[in-house]
Amino acid sequence: MRLSELEPLEMWGYFEEITKIPRPSKHEELMIRYLLDFAAKHKLEAERDKAGNVVIRKPASKGLEKMKSVILQGHSDMVCEKNSDKIHDFEKDPIDAYIDGEWIKARGTTLGADDGIGVAAALAVLASKTIAHGPIEALFTSDEETGMTGAFGLKEGFVKSKILINLDSEDDGELFIGCAGGIDTQATFKFSKRKISRHSKAFIVAVTGLKGGHSGDEIDKGLGNSNKILTRLLLNINDLKFRLNDFNGGNLRNAIPREAFAKFTIPSENVEKMNTKIAELSQLIKAELSVKEPELKIEIHAADLPEFIIDRRTQNRLLQALNACPHGVLQMSPDMPGLVETSTNLASVKFTEKNKIVVATSQRSAIESAKWSMAYTVQSVFELAGAKVKRGEGYPGWKPNVNSEILNITNQAHIRVLEFEPKIRAIHAGLECGLFLEKYPYLDMISFGPTIKGAHSPDERLNIPATQRFWTLLVEVLKNIPEEK
Ligand SMILES: [Zn+2]
Repeated sequence: MRLSELEPLEMWGYFEEITKIPRPSKHEELMIRYLLDFAAKHKLEAERDKAGNVVIRKPASKGLEKMKSVILQGHSDMVCEKNSDKIHDFEKDPIDAYIDGEWIKARGTTLGADDGIGVAAALAVLASKTIAHGPIEALFTSDEETGMTGAFGLKEGFVKSKILINLDSEDDGELFIGCAGGIDTQATFKFSKRKISRHSKAFIVAVTGLKGGHSGDEIDKGLGNSNKILTRLLLNINDLKFRLNDFNGGNLRNAIPREAFAKFTIPSENVEKMNTKIAELSQLIKAELSVKEPELKIEIHAADLPEFIIDRRTQNRLLQALNACPHGVLQMSPDMPGLVETSTNLASVKFTEKNKIVVATSQRSAIESAKWSMAYTVQSVFELAGAKVKRGEGYPGWKPNVNSEILNITNQAHIRVLEFEPKIRAIHAGLECGLFLEKYPYLDMISFGPTIKGAHSPDERLNIPATQRFWTLLVEVLKNIPEEK
């Protein structure tokens, strides 16, 4: 069986076409061309902007002209990941999609159902002569996956509707009504190099084996932070006159750090004491984390003497600041049980060649002012320690509104046609919706989509029955949009 033979024919037909169009993030030209050609073929008004976003407008079906206008939104790019043995050029080659039981998969690459299926559903609505709907603006944003530059670049007035349905979530039976905004706060310390005193020995302490994880979605799991653990171990031997040569922990700004390493020197006569103290504290930390982080490893081994150590003042300020810097959940959402509202991640610590130490952190919150407050707290910690603090541009969140009109309509439609009550959720990570809200603060938004597993990896697969339910729901929602008052 071919994809385009699945029901509903139109949506799957478009999905199959889209899988053949190369569309890596930041290289969506072919996809944009395809969308504009589609609009021309169906005699629909279309526009593209400088950021690579495309809008296609379709008038209401006959008799429904008074319905409120709705934005159907998806993103035109896809994540390009492949297995190492797969030969595939994402800028030229079509995705090799196939049906396996109740799943659509791709041979050796990402499938691009994220967000190809959302785009296909919007195109099927635009092409349909039978679906009942009010005025539609189908918005296809560019580069969602590597910086949301399309959503960032969206201009006022590009779309005019006051309702937006985002077709880019991945869980059947769930409706999303909120996301977190984020911002990066970076602190830089300057150090001077000092000579190593005689009768010193050098060691490396390594904290490894932690799970790591997404700094938004997984911040409430109580996972270990390698930078925090390493800092505790070092402060615990502060009275033994150790001197830091290097501290290297974490990598990605949006990941909870899994590993951290410190290289230092210590007077020979203190080595035995140091070993005892590190072993004792290691046992306590492992016991604290025994359930969440059973693979945590703390090791200390001898190293070659380094070329320098850093000045004592900076060493002290760095470690005190890392110790004081918050990490984890600050506040849970009062409206949505189990949802994190505000959090911060102490992501990475790196020594650079120019005698600098750069500490990267990131803050998230569904509430813009709370995000800033968290960022200022982190800033205060590092400024007290004499570091220079700077910040990224950040992106805004989408605060859940449990009384939203489109939520109520979608919830009722779900119960009517799918015969069960959907879960209503928000996520503690970024979505394009937060950026839309910044440009169009009056928007009433919801996000739903079919089940996609393994997104962003060559295991990506799309569930066929869930996709059929997704389509049924979308059609029912469009039919039930209220009239403009
Ligand atoms: Zn997506």
